Amino acid sequence: MSDLAEIRDASRAFIADRQWQKFQDPKSILLALVGEVGELAELLQWLPANKARELLHEEPLNTRVSEEMADVLVYLVGLADQCGVDLRSAALHKIEASAKKYPIEKNLGVAPDKA
Ligand SMILES: [Mg+2]
Repeated sequence: MSDLAEIRDASRAFIADRQWQKFQDPKSILLALVGEVGELAELLQWLPANKARELLHEEPLNTRVSEEMADVLVYLVGLADQCGVDLRSAALHKIEASAKKYPIEKNLGVAPDKA
């Protein structure tokens, strides 16, 4: 079982134990996901960009960021579950497609072209 399948199954059990399946539709889960992304962004929004990497390793910020990242991941996995998407496979395919779209010889050390 992949890590994502383990998260999906744990989330399904959490939801079933509370009889919350009736609240699990794609739109509701997407809105919850966006809310959690906002909570994550709020933690980073005023960090000085040149010190953010260092500050994100310090407590209590590191714990707070990990909690919000977990919320984002759980809702994303839930959305994929509702949509019948194999998220692990989709992500790996997307990385492979990006590697073809941005070959190393044309993109080494430079920002991707918008073309
Ligand atoms: Mg949260």
